[in-house]
Amino acid sequence: MLIHVSRRMEESKDLLSEADRAIGDGDHGIGMARGFEAVRRKLEGGAFTSAGELGKSTGMALLTSVGGASGAIFGTLFQGGASELEDQQSFTSDTLSRLLLSGLAAVTARGKAKVGDKTMVDALEPAALRSIETRRAFLGEALASVTEAARLGMEKTKEMRAALGKARTLGERSLGHVDPGAVSMYLILKFMTEYVTQLEREEDTV
Ligand code: ADP
Ligand code: MG
Repeated sequence: MLIHVSRRMEESKDLLSEADRAIGDGDHGIGMARGFEAVRRKLEGGAFTSAGELGKSTGMALLTSVGGASGAIFGTLFQGGASELEDQQSFTSDTLSRLLLSGLAAVTARGKAKVGDKTMVDALEPAALRSIETRRAFLGEALASVTEAARLGMEKTKEMRAALGKARTLGERSLGHVDPGAVSMYLILKFMTEYVTQLEREEDTV
């Protein structure tokens, strides 16, 4: 799943940089593509024994390769999220929820962003809260629901004035544009969903 997410994030480079050009310095896609290329190489080349170990490696690859605010933020999301998954041998809707909730706690502890500040937290927090309700659903359904919550959160960033990061200095001019990090957060969940629903469809046909 994470290798699929990595490939699709690499493909989303231009879209993400475009979003950052509107309210930031235009490098968000470059950073995320570089980061997820590093993740993909690490995961393709390694053997992992738990979801926790996978999350830690993913976070570390992002932290060390991205640079900029998003390297620290998305690296922290996966590293913090992994802290709860130490011995997990499988990835279920409950695992997803633990990943998002402890990831959210780590990201807000590090970056101090709150909902409404126009950051990736505006997509992550509603997704994490939704995941509490979908803990017992099938993984594909849980992911689809969590992704929709992230999408709505991302859309709302259009109406927000940036309070943090590079867009902060734009003030009113950041209105009308989505936050690029919120787009990334939504896409990561969307690509997870894409992978799992594809797998479920394949299972249905055998
Ligand atoms: P930089 O701002 O260093 O150019 P990027 O363009 O790669 O880095 O990433 C910008 C994104 O990082 C923003 O759109 C926002 O979502 C996210 N971000 C910035 N600061 C924070 C923060 N303190 N907490 C959460 N997310 C943040
Ligand atoms: Mg930027």
